[in-house]
Parts: sequence; structure tokens; C-alpha cells
Amino acid sequence: TDSDTADEAVRATCDDATTCKRFASSKSYWKDPYIQYFVRSVGERKAPEINRGYYARVQGVNHLLDAFIRKAECDCQVVNLGAGLDTTFWRLKDENLMPRKFFEVDFPTIVARKIHNIKTKPPLSKPIIETHSTDSLLLDSHCLDSDRYCIVGADLRDISSMDEKLKKFQLNPELPTLFLSECVLVYMTPSQSSNLLHWAAETFHTAMFINYEQVNMSDRFGQVMIENLQRRQCTLAGVEACQSVDSQKERFLKTGWEQADALDMMTVYSILPQDDVARIERLEFLDEKELLQQLLQHYSICWATKDKLNLGLSQLAF
Ligand code: SAM
Repeated sequence: TDSDTADEAVRATCDDATTCKRFASSKSYWKDPYIQYFVRSVGERKAPEINRGYYARVQGVNHLLDAFIRKAECDCQVVNLGAGLDTTFWRLKDENLMPRKFFEVDFPTIVARKIHNIKTKPPLSKPIIETHSTDSLLLDSHCLDSDRYCIVGADLRDISSMDEKLKKFQLNPELPTLFLSECVLVYMTPSQSSNLLHWAAETFHTAMFINYEQVNMSDRFGQVMIENLQRRQCTLAGVEACQSVDSQKERFLKTGWEQADALDMMTVYSILPQDDVARIERLEFLDEKELLQQLLQHYSICWATKDKLNLGLSQLAF
């Protein structure tokens, strides 16, 4: 059906993210020793502005994620929504920043691929086994559940079934919880993503949500981005919520979050640690600075909090 084709096109975006991250990390924009186990070859060259864009995305998201985990002193959960083949679990383990439990949700076919890689690659499976205390590790083709890491197949548009699956694997509403969605909400209609944000806000009293995605999509450059995706049968169903950084904040404030902030990625790029930015700018020559600016102005990070436990989550920023 049309909707199967549309979902398949959305699932294919997972490979874009992974191959771009694989390429940029192979060029030393940042270190990711695990992504090679999800995409074997480095693949074709990506333009320098794409690599710098991914650098800003990964550093920006990691900055807020790590700050939340530190505030909660690791006594928290992370839920990565539409996680794809993301490697954050292994990074947090290596950096001694593991939350009590790390959850991931994606479509069952993507989850099956991820679990297959984990099963067959010891560098991926070892850290999961090491952090598991009993012999009850659940690892079948569609679902992984260990003490510290859980991957479930579910559709983010079907909240009640997703909620049920996560609770079955001990997602705990009483613990401070960090939600992450990286280029995910934009593929759902505004009402579907609102339902998801609302579910998170009403289920967890102390939480933070980090959302990275397209923004400022009404201008000419934004239209070209939309057309390029449409050529691959991929519809940005949620683009209405991506009109501006203010509309990004608004959707959280309307769905039960206490406080929300958003920055476009050009701003994030200009406030990331500048010695490291200088390092990555030496990696590849970039002639057209304006191209990078335009690209980064069309993505944003939005973060929202609620903080019944008074951890000081509203102070988290760049
Ligand atoms: N967050 C990952 C990253 O940044 O590397 C993957 C990003 S990829 C662009 C979007 C991901 O969201 C895909 O893995 C896709 O399968 C997932 N996704 C989109 N809509 C979804 C839905 N309704 N239910 C579950 N997963 C979904």
C-alpha cells in the first residue's frame, strides 16, 4: 500500500544517518569505534559541509545528553525514539556515563537489523553481556532486553502499544528520564508527534526531551530540501512544526512541558568548544562558507524539561 511505501522510505533514512556518521567519524570529525560494525564500508565521500553539519549534530546532542546524565548522577533512564543504528549506548559505557537503563525504539525491521549486528559482532555484544548480571538476557530477532540496554520494535505513532512494551521491560515512570529524537518527529504528522510529546510529559514527572530536526523550512532552501526527499518517496509529514525555532519550542509548551529552548544549528556551531571546531575545520577545506551557514540554519536542537525532583534541569543549556 501507499503507506507501506511511505514507511519504507522513512526507514531508509536510517541508512543515510548511519553512512554519514560512518564517513565523518572515519575522517576524525569525532570518534565512534562502534559504527563500523553497523556499516561495513566507509562508502562514498560526503561533502565537507555535510560532515561539519553532522559534527554539530552529534556534538550538540551529546552535550545536552551528557549534561542530563551528569545532573541525574546516572540515576536515570534514556529513551532514544527512532534510534536507528545509533551507537550512543556503547559510548556512554566507555565514558562511564551509563544511565540505569538505556532504551531504544524503532520499527521492527530496523530493530531486527540492529540486533543481528549485535549478535554477530563481539565488540557490540560484549559490553551488553558485561553489564548484565544474570543468565536471563533476552536476545531474539525482534527484541533485546538486558539489565542496562533494551531495544524494542514499535511504531511511535501507536503510543499505547509502545508504552505497554516499554513498561514490560521496566521503563520506570519514577526515574528522571531523557528522551531523544534525532530526525524522527519530522516524519510523523504534527498530531502524531504531539501525542508522543504529550505521552512523555504526562507519564514522567522529571524528564528532558531533546529533539533535533529540520527547521525554517518555508524558505527557498527549505523547499529544495523537501523536494529532494520527495524524489525518494519520503514525505516530511511533520514539516508544519518545523517552521521556526519558536514553533519547535511551542509544540513542547503545548504538550505539558514546563520549559523549552531551541537553537538553530548555526548558532550551536558557533558556541561549541571553539578549539575543537578549529580542529575539525582543518580536516577538510571548505570553500563556500555560505553553504555551511545555509545548511546549518535549516536544522535545530530543541530541548524541553519538567522537573518535579528539582534536579535543576532548566539550567541545562549550551
Ligand atoms: N535517530 C537515528 C540517528 O540520528 O542516527 C536515526 C535517524 S533516521 C533519519 C529516522 C529513524 O526514525 C529511522 O530509523 C526510522 O525507522 C525511525 N522512525 C521514523 N518513524 C518511526 C515510527 N513511526 N516508529 C518507529 N520508528 C520510526
